[in-house]
Amino acid sequence: MRSQDYDRLYLSPPHLGRHELNYLHKAIEDNWVAPVGPNLDGFERDICEFTGAGHCVALSSGTAAIHLGLRLLGVGPGDEVLCPSFTFVATANPILYLGARPIFVDSEAETWNICPERLREALEDMQRQNRRPKALILVHLYGMPCRLREVLAVAQEFGVPVLEDAAEALGSRYEGQPLSTFGEVGVFSFNGNKILTTSGGGALVTNRPDWAEKVRFWATQARDPAPHYQHSELGYNYRLSNLLAGIGRGQMELLADRVKKRREIYAWYQEHLRAVPGLTLGPQEPTHGQSNRWLSCVLLNPTEMAVTPEQLRLHLETHNIESRPLWKPLHLQPLFAEAPMYGGSVCTNLFVHGLCLPSGSSMQESDLHRVADALRGILLT
Ligand SMILES: *Cc1c(COP(=O)(O)O)cnc(C)c1O
Repeated sequence: MRSQDYDRLYLSPPHLGRHELNYLHKAIEDNWVAPVGPNLDGFERDICEFTGAGHCVALSSGTAAIHLGLRLLGVGPGDEVLCPSFTFVATANPILYLGARPIFVDSEAETWNICPERLREALEDMQRQNRRPKALILVHLYGMPCRLREVLAVAQEFGVPVLEDAAEALGSRYEGQPLSTFGEVGVFSFNGNKILTTSGGGALVTNRPDWAEKVRFWATQARDPAPHYQHSELGYNYRLSNLLAGIGRGQMELLADRVKKRREIYAWYQEHLRAVPGLTLGPQEPTHGQSNRWLSCVLLNPTEMAVTPEQLRLHLETHNIESRPLWKPLHLQPLFAEAPMYGGSVCTNLFVHGLCLPSGSSMQESDLHRVADALRGILLT
């Protein structure tokens, strides 16, 4: 990666391969630089092939995909949408775009994702008040599959459709099946820090052809079939460009390798930090789940060590190593101060005690030693 600071170890920098440029060249040679063209079709086909989804629409961001996905599920003004509190804000912002209200749910301590018991509690509570949520958003944070079997059983029992925010989880699986294909709609992000990147981009997957068509329609300003510009519905400019889709095609060729590398990084940290008392790696894989290990994280147990995650972060910074706190739960964000929350202690604890370590697939073993040495330097003295 090129930057002003070659020595800096970043959290999760882009990692390009050898073939992205070929696709870009071809697009420019053939004059396909609009948000339409063979790379776009090919990128969507690649994602369908990998996930097994029936249809894919490449979009300008993961956030745009969540926005249109919620709209597919019929979310509109005044509706309520269930969502884990422990996630990036982009999971929940589209709920607000649509004039709906998020209902937040706590995590469970193993996968750090939505807790099936708290989810049931929320649904029972809402049912008593005759409130039926329009949708449930599932997030596989840091690439870790949530407890899908339990969570989907609860969603089904209460008849709530599921949108899977797999923005961080491309290449992760549950019962061998790629994430994003368990709900009605699945979402990926190809932002610069994700496991694969198009510099910026996203994708929506679904098995329903009519939904895919609708998303293409909305994403290109909802133009009715007419020779002039005719519009009956609200649309957006959300389509991915054919140029960026070319980068995506090159990146998709590397997916298996990138997942393998990130999993090796997690395993390396686990082995080399085992001897540090009070430190644990996370999150943990659920039964039947396999994570792409997008980010490796640590939790510091305050009863066993005096160093806080923030002190650790600042210490790593003095070694020119980037680390970052875990996501700050959304129910603690001023933006969502009004939103109801079921539980909260699990995700709040994760936020207070956790830190994300450099996990980029371009890391060398010497980089990993640099992180581990710096960690031991403060934690074991
Ligand atoms: C990155 C991310 C998104 C948003 O994707 P963008 O492509 O950046 O819009 C949504 N949800 C989660 C959990 C993410 O990590």
